[in-house]
Amino acid sequence: MSELQLRRSIIDHCRHMNAIGLNQGTSGNISVRHGDTMLITPSAIPYADMTPEMIVAMPIDGEYGAWSGPRKPSVEWPFHLDIMRARPEVCAVVHTHATFSTILAIAGKPIPACHYMIAAFGGVDVRVADYARYGTKALSENVLKAMEGRSACLMANHGMIATGPSLEKAMWAAVELETIAKQYYHTLLIGRPVILPDAEIAGVLEGFASYGLQDKRDGTAAA
Ligand code: 13P
Ligand code: ZN
Repeated sequence: MSELQLRRSIIDHCRHMNAIGLNQGTSGNISVRHGDTMLITPSAIPYADMTPEMIVAMPIDGEYGAWSGPRKPSVEWPFHLDIMRARPEVCAVVHTHATFSTILAIAGKPIPACHYMIAAFGGVDVRVADYARYGTKALSENVLKAMEGRSACLMANHGMIATGPSLEKAMWAAVELETIAKQYYHTLLIGRPVILPDAEIAGVLEGFASYGLQDKRDGTAAA
């Protein structure tokens, strides 16, 4: 994909996440790896008004925090950049304030293996990153810790992050994370959730090598 196509795709995905109720207003942000550059949404621009040239370019391994473009990068550029630096397999990061993920994060409740789809995020649970103020290095450090061995996390009193090897797969993961958060939340309302054993999740993880969102181009699985 050309850089222009990627910039357009970021905006399309921003509008999509708001249209399907996964996010609201100017909350949330998206970044995509493009070679040694990170492309990231600008800060506080309504998605309906966002145009491709407003997407901000930041060097991944160059001067930390340098950026170019007519608009400021998302305030959350530190965790987007730090994830890109620390996790070479990640090519896209989606951050949203999705309702059920955020409710669990406010309650400080990690998501256990209440559904086999938990394995889509790399292990037996999705953790909650400790609270730190938005846009800070401290928040980025807490996020990286919560994401150890995982492709997603909840963020205390804030929202969630889902990542993937492409923007399509990161958005797929964000939708799946909100779905399992919604299922877990509702189960907590009616009784005690039955949690799958670790060995079962290990088996599901093996199966996920050939199951999950298929790539349009090469047919490889998302998980
Ligand atoms: P930005 O508009 O700066 O991306 O901030 C939105 C957000 O979700 C902050 O956590
Ligand atoms: Zn946020």
